Amino acid sequence: MFLSISNASSKLERIQQPTKSDGSLSFLVVGDWGRKGAYNQSQVALQMGRIGDKMDIEFVISTGDNFYDNGLTGVNDPAFEESFSKIYTAKSLQKQWYNVLGNHDYRGDVEAQLDPILRKIDEKWLCKRSFIVDAETAEIFFVDTTPFVDKYFTHPEDHKYDWSGVIPRDKYIANMLKDLESALTDSTAKWKIVVGHHTMFSAGPHGDTVELKEQLLPILQASDVDFYVNGHDHCLEHFSSNESQIQFLTSGGGSKAWKGEIEKNKPGMEFYYDGQGFMSVQLTPDSAQITFFDVFGNALHDLDVFNSKQLYSVT
Ligand SMILES: [Zn+2]
Repeated sequence: MFLSISNASSKLERIQQPTKSDGSLSFLVVGDWGRKGAYNQSQVALQMGRIGDKMDIEFVISTGDNFYDNGLTGVNDPAFEESFSKIYTAKSLQKQWYNVLGNHDYRGDVEAQLDPILRKIDEKWLCKRSFIVDAETAEIFFVDTTPFVDKYFTHPEDHKYDWSGVIPRDKYIANMLKDLESALTDSTAKWKIVVGHHTMFSAGPHGDTVELKEQLLPILQASDVDFYVNGHDHCLEHFSSNESQIQFLTSGGGSKAWKGEIEKNKPGMEFYYDGQGFMSVQLTPDSAQITFFDVFGNALHDLDVFNSKQLYSVT
């Protein structure tokens, strides 16, 4: 009973994702969406389908808060199909979806979202806690950010969080950060992208996530990460910082938005849109083009980054 299991050699699971034949890659990012089509979720899905077709995307990333308000109740929860399979019906979106968990997902049965049995209902679904998608041109590191946030543990209010698989929390976080740090250090990919649910910098109602700025950001800064991509605030936003080349991109406009709480003139803010929408990413080994789209499919903001780690232009 005093057996201690060492996770010293544990590594993040790695999934191979092919690129186009010329080594380029395109994908969409959406977050904070599962509302059975309501709050314009269906309209965002429609435009994702249109843009996804135009870009001939390889996959879709979900930044979490996949099912409102309280995740899934189990693998048989009809919300899985009502909020996912029956909404993202466009042909271009029938690609692999890489999903992380958000804080709302932790209020339900977490194991259900992680259960491979969901792939029998809809094979495009794939959700894990922390993992790596190796797409040659880019490596994408998915991080389970909800366990970092103190208030879910200290002030859960009337919410019940499913921490099975997370506690003891300190060990869970320490192991994850250690695995992430070594994977980022070892990576030779042209582009390093980190995806989590929670914000790093945000002018939205949730603001910055101090726990991530303290514990995760230094690792990203030390390993030449290009982009940190998240949801959580129901908006589209782009921040840069003087401390590193990392561009911070929020795509959390998958359904309910227009909260109207914006911290104006926040340092580093390049773009903020309070409404629904999503983000597209087009990568070649030398360049990245990122575009934010609104619910009508209009391009709102472009970011072009050249792979010299220093040069970028915002238009
Ligand atoms: Zn959230």
